[in-house]
Amino acid sequence: MTDNTTTWTKEAILDVYNQPLMELIFKAAQVHREYHDPLKIQVSKLISIKTGGCPEDCGYCPQAARYHTGIEKNDLMPVEEVLSTAKAAKENGSSRVCMGAAWRNVQDGEDFEQVLKMVSGLRDLEMEVCCTLGMVTESQATRLAEAGLHYYNHNIDTSEEYYKDIISTRGFNDRIKTLENVRKSALKVCSGGIIGMGESVDDRIGMLMGLLKLSNPPESIPINALVPVEGTPLEEQEIVPVWDVVRMIATTRIVFPKSTVRLSAGRTQMTKEGQALCFMAGASSIFAGDKLLTTPNPGENEDMQMFNLLGLTPSEKEKDNTGKVKIRKAASTQKEDAKWSRPGHTIERNVAATEKGKAIRRELKEEAK
Ligand code: SF4
Repeated sequence: MTDNTTTWTKEAILDVYNQPLMELIFKAAQVHREYHDPLKIQVSKLISIKTGGCPEDCGYCPQAARYHTGIEKNDLMPVEEVLSTAKAAKENGSSRVCMGAAWRNVQDGEDFEQVLKMVSGLRDLEMEVCCTLGMVTESQATRLAEAGLHYYNHNIDTSEEYYKDIISTRGFNDRIKTLENVRKSALKVCSGGIIGMGESVDDRIGMLMGLLKLSNPPESIPINALVPVEGTPLEEQEIVPVWDVVRMIATTRIVFPKSTVRLSAGRTQMTKEGQALCFMAGASSIFAGDKLLTTPNPGENEDMQMFNLLGLTPSEKEKDNTGKVKIRKAASTQKEDAKWSRPGHTIERNVAATEKGKAIRRELKEEAK
């Protein structure tokens, strides 16, 4: 099996996805063993450094200000709190910290400076650091790299075609532009998608095709299963069958043999047996901690018990020759004016969820009087 990421066609990937499940898992497991240690799982701790109040309308997201999901909003976390949470996660086996902020895009200023301090503090703890902060310019990505960031996460979510049914406040091209800015800055790219949002199998493969079109394949690919949250436009979506998650993980593993494939959101909807099949099919990473930004996740103890049962161990952080975490070097660039788009088309279910959210807030205000 070769790292043939440039020669895949949509039809060829569909054939991979649709083959008998047992064959698919077997082939993915073979690829996995060729490029990775199948007994090691990279464990990332996700910390929500700024929760809720986001101006975007992503149909799956409880953090969008326009829906009413009852989540507790938080301003940007103090640097010290982030570092102490990370220290505890490191003791529990996490080698990477991923910090998420519910922003449309990164804005130069006080908050960004605070995030840069978090990044350099985590680098000093000798942990790998990842951020997901929304759209980012090349100069901002470069500053993050210089502060010690290793990865930048920005999911393309789904196919370009279905994206318009999920988000109306920014375009698919903005996502691609951000990923290219990240790539130019010498940061590693983390980007994947979500299944179970009502998309077709064609859209799932379209998401992988979107990743293949990037100048280089992402080093890290999260595959999320939608966790339907009350109040969001996708609240009534049925839980995606575990078999679809296994198929998606296996297909991603075969198409992107060298990448880390992360079994991300939706693990609480799966049994340990289901998760074991995902590891068999090539998942090489998970998020640790009982919360994934705002949705539930198995606790760290539960994951360690599962690892013991399956004979898996958390993998260590990447090291260079001196035994330190690799710090990626980036060439400085000029500050740029970001020109992000606002397609602003209408998605009926997002509009309905927005109106419902407004009505609930009005009622709550009345009750409080
Ligand atoms: S997914 Fe990110 S950008 Fe979209 S609403 Fe949620 S926090 Fe905002």
